[in-house]
Amino acid sequence: MKTPPSRTCLGCRRARPQAALVRLVRLTNGTVVVDGGTRAAGRGAYLCPDAECIKRGLSRGRLGHAFRKPSEAGPNLAAAVRAAARLEARAAPAEASPAGALLCEVSARAIEDVDVITVRS
Ligand SMILES: [Zn+2]
Repeated sequence: MKTPPSRTCLGCRRARPQAALVRLVRLTNGTVVVDGGTRAAGRGAYLCPDAECIKRGLSRGRLGHAFRKPSEAGPNLAAAVRAAARLEARAAPAEASPAGALLCEVSARAIEDVDVITVRS
């Protein structure tokens, strides 16, 4: 069994399986939105779809720290995080993807994510 990739939640700072977290991205104008599965370019941040984590993680200070630039939660971001979590709960589990494809995705994203994963072949 391989360990699934883990990410740190912006709210509670706990490392959790990436599949259990909602990915946020910062637009060039500083607005933070949910990454709607489009693999938007740029730095990502992760959040548990948990009321307490959403409240803490979406504060301006936390977002600015995570993205290392002035950042502000987009309109209805908290609701969007909860909606995204519900969608992901219904999606196929991440383990279903072939190992090769997963490795490519990790190495491609390692340079842009907050938590860098080193991939050794
Ligand atoms: Zn959390």
